[in-house]
Amino acid sequence: MPTLSGIIGFDTQVMVDWCLAQVNLHDRLFGAIIHPSLPSQSALLILRMSALPRLDYLTRVLPPSVLNAAMVSFDAMVLQSVIRKLQLPSPLSDEAQSLLRLPIRMGGCGIRSLLSVAPAAYFGAVAIAAPFILNTINLFTHAPPEDASPSLSSASSSSPPPPPSPLSFPLALTLLYSLPISRHLSDCITNLKQVGIPSSSPLLPPNTPDFWVLYGNGKRGLQKRLSQIIHTLSYDDLRLKTRDPLAKAQFIACGVKHSGSWLNTVPSSPELFLMDAHFALAVRLRLGLPPQEKLPLECKCGAVLKTDPAHFLSCKLLKRTIVTARHDMLVRQIASFVRSAGGSVFIEPKYLEGKRADAQIYFTSDISLMDVQVTHPAAPYYAISTNIASTPLGTARSREIAKHSKYDKQAKSEGASFYPFVMETYGGLGKEASVFVQKIGKLHAETSSFPINRNTFTTKMVKLLVLRYRRGMH
Ligand SMILES: [Zn+2]
Repeated sequence: MPTLSGIIGFDTQVMVDWCLAQVNLHDRLFGAIIHPSLPSQSALLILRMSALPRLDYLTRVLPPSVLNAAMVSFDAMVLQSVIRKLQLPSPLSDEAQSLLRLPIRMGGCGIRSLLSVAPAAYFGAVAIAAPFILNTINLFTHAPPEDASPSLSSASSSSPPPPPSPLSFPLALTLLYSLPISRHLSDCITNLKQVGIPSSSPLLPPNTPDFWVLYGNGKRGLQKRLSQIIHTLSYDDLRLKTRDPLAKAQFIACGVKHSGSWLNTVPSSPELFLMDAHFALAVRLRLGLPPQEKLPLECKCGAVLKTDPAHFLSCKLLKRTIVTARHDMLVRQIASFVRSAGGSVFIEPKYLEGKRADAQIYFTSDISLMDVQVTHPAAPYYAISTNIASTPLGTARSREIAKHSKYDKQAKSEGASFYPFVMETYGGLGKEASVFVQKIGKLHAETSSFPINRNTFTTKMVKLLVLRYRRGMH
């Protein structure tokens, strides 16, 4: 019987069919998401923020055994929508699918699989409801606790009722263990162990009776904690499975802070909007896919494109043209940030050819020199020859050191401090670039008549930088 936006009953098949029907109700939503008039950037945000949570409630109130078929169907609909919207290859490789499903902070695209989180969701929901369930059983079996008897009125109050001690009520225990909920919990525990949650985890009881002992008082936040462990396990599994050093470098670089900020950017103004072709290209880069299908076997420089899908980001033939244009665009963008924050900037003319740092920045308290570089961690030099890319932001750090040795002397002679502004092609900002961004944010807070929150300003800056870069890459 459908009730309270879920379904209850003993006929499992009827419940399974009802869940599948709930998934099919989303046909129109997915149709709208893949509609050509909706930009890809907005479509993916709507998919993640609005479509994916649509069935969250069901994962909390219905056991995975009832929901599984519906979750498989829903996950497939989500995947097909992403593939069609971004014109990704179909079928998508297992590695790319795993990356798509990982959280953004771990280097993925945040398109989580409901099937994989359903056991944790149900388990966590029952843990919250446990004291109420125990209390109800206690009332049914008329077994008063030794001290105070929990009553229905205490169950409906804001604080959970004190649980009776299960071991002291054999009748209550018999009833509890015969309920379908105990069987569903047992399935969840088995399933959580299968996905890799260790038996020794303090969150996971060895069996159902222990569940009631462990969570009889109720426990909040279990779904989140278990999901985090499951995501970390997928991340570790993917990292270990990735043998190709270029793919490994890409995976590590996509997991650094801010590298996925463009996926969270709401296109609320033209400068924050990414065209469909650029957005799809950025997703392809993040998933380790080539920039387009049917590439020739080799680049003009002789590099084999099949083994290095992101070769064009490190091709020596493009250095003088596209790479230089991208560099100049970033310098201008940072300069415009500084000016909008109330500082002055002098950009060195091009004919100096790198003999001086890219720009002089006049802050209220000091003068800084800044030199910009975009570096590609999955270039064979960083990922194979030197292994620098095996450390998060290691590639950016190596360029920071090189720039210090080149420009520190100039900065010292001019009484200025020097900041290498290094950005990785996957979106990561070098540590010193992050410090510099904070410095601009501080300046904005000091000089503006209407200072905005420093964190808001700096976050916007980083997002803009990443978006600008994506545009420049195309
Ligand atoms: Zn090349």
